[in-house]
Amino acid sequence: MAENTTIATNFVQNAIEEDQKNGKYTEGIHTRFPPEPNGYLHIGHAKSICLNFGLAEYNHGLCNLRFDDTNPTKEDTEYVDSIQEDIRWLGFSWQNRMYYASDYFDKLYDYAVELIKKGLAYVDDLTADQIKEYRGTLTEPGKESPYRNRSVEENLDLFARMKAGEFGDGEKVLRAKIDMASPNMVMRDTVIYRIAHAHHHRTGDKWCIYPMYDFAHPLSDAIEGITHSVCTLEFEEHRPFYDWLLENLGFDVNTRPRQIEFARLNLTNTVTSKRKLRQLVEEGHVRGWDDPRMPTISGLRRRGFTPASLRKFCEEIGVAKGNSLVDVAMLESCVRADLNENADRIMAVLRPLKVVITNYPEDKEEWLLGDNNPMHGGHRFIPFSREIYIEQEDFMEDAPKKFFRLKPGGEVRLKHAYIIKCEEVIKDEQGNVVELRCTADLDSKTGGATAGRKVKGTIHWVAAKTAVPAEVRLYDYLLETDENGNLPEDFIGALNKNSLEIIDNALVEPSVKLQAAGKHYQFLRTGYFVIDPDTTPDKLVFNRVVGLKDTWAKEKKKG
Ligand code: ATP
Ligand code: MG
Repeated sequence: MAENTTIATNFVQNAIEEDQKNGKYTEGIHTRFPPEPNGYLHIGHAKSICLNFGLAEYNHGLCNLRFDDTNPTKEDTEYVDSIQEDIRWLGFSWQNRMYYASDYFDKLYDYAVELIKKGLAYVDDLTADQIKEYRGTLTEPGKESPYRNRSVEENLDLFARMKAGEFGDGEKVLRAKIDMASPNMVMRDTVIYRIAHAHHHRTGDKWCIYPMYDFAHPLSDAIEGITHSVCTLEFEEHRPFYDWLLENLGFDVNTRPRQIEFARLNLTNTVTSKRKLRQLVEEGHVRGWDDPRMPTISGLRRRGFTPASLRKFCEEIGVAKGNSLVDVAMLESCVRADLNENADRIMAVLRPLKVVITNYPEDKEEWLLGDNNPMHGGHRFIPFSREIYIEQEDFMEDAPKKFFRLKPGGEVRLKHAYIIKCEEVIKDEQGNVVELRCTADLDSKTGGATAGRKVKGTIHWVAAKTAVPAEVRLYDYLLETDENGNLPEDFIGALNKNSLEIIDNALVEPSVKLQAAGKHYQFLRTGYFVIDPDTTPDKLVFNRVVGLKDTWAKEKKKG
């Protein structure tokens, strides 16, 4: 695991160190990542994963994976599996500490009973709408429920009968008894148990009452011995309730979890809400949760992002207390830097134009040497023969003066090969250029007499006989934003109709032939690509990860 330099300086780490200086958490630091298994993880979760596992690692502590599965109707084992796969792929390990909030349903029930016995919880018969109405507003205090002063015995009896299934969904709830006039709305007798006759993906039909998130979450943390519950800002106003709960259930202040909030990651051109991502999948706007345009971890993986690049991104954005919007170009810059260093270079032609080298023997084939990567070295063979393909846009008939690629009568170097000169342009009946006839300076390849001869342009190519056909998928942002990077409320209206372009007749050099999904390349002069899982031994499919141009790094230098 790479050293995480931002952990050392972030405010959460500072708080941990302060706690330890004050003699708290002497047994060691213990964090957790607590996803609800109701969707696939996204880039925002990656930030939380890197932070929680990173803090544990930095402090020689532990980090649990815990599924917060208190909402039986929305959860699924498909999500449980994908979440584990994504965390492992990011490079983190919970070792043998994978838990579920549902592991604690018995204990949580007992805690609720304990609160009732202490006169700190009551069964309420108000409907959901009434509870809302009685809750008051930010400027007005709430009203006490007429059921608030039921006796402990009556509450115990009713709660047991809720559990036994005597009542229908929504007929009764269990509420904490705190303060209906509290300025903090969460403290106005928060609901802690509800009735839901629903099948749970792990506990089956054992329960028909389920703990609310605000009850299950802090207690699950406490049960697991979590020292620092790191979560996002929206839970700041829930913290007094969590502290109230733990205090009244007898958890020692020196060892019970301390909650620390940080800002969610928001990215330009991107939605990071499982609900919205699910909508994109369910309404068919994308091909699935792992569509390469999705900001899910599985989508980013398929798109060709590397674990190292996502970790680096999470390091670079840092951890702060205030919400902000991060430019998605920064994420792209991170993967570009990783692939620039690590991806092998090859030649691929996306939109082929045939070139015949008329002075090159028809039956000749030679193997030229190309370097794979400027940083890590290595070489491969590239076949050359009389017919090749170049990129359509590397030829221009009426070229401006500054066009240094191929033009009638002009010369260009073929990368790793010869200098060629365009002698004749062949067109079809509609006037489209369909073929170029060129001559090569046969002494101009490496080692030849004119190898050092300079021409202005160098272009990539593939040999016709040996080129491998490929489908190439080019992506643009799934959503279009205004000039400030913000999405409209109705984000479906912001869908970019041109977010996917499929090129089905690209050609790549044969060295890639036996590679399978997940292998990265830089297509020289074109961008970074990865082999897609749709690839079969008969058909190569590539995704473009990012283009070559790094606007983010440029801006950073300027700024
Ligand atoms: P969503 O709004 O996408 O459903 P969530 O917060 O409900 O997200 P959880 O499964 O509860 O999803 O999230 C697990 C953990 O990941 C939580 O601790 C949550 O705070 C954190 N998390 C979720 N989204 C982000 C984000 N955009 N940035 C940072 N952390 C996040
Ligand atoms: Mg949530």
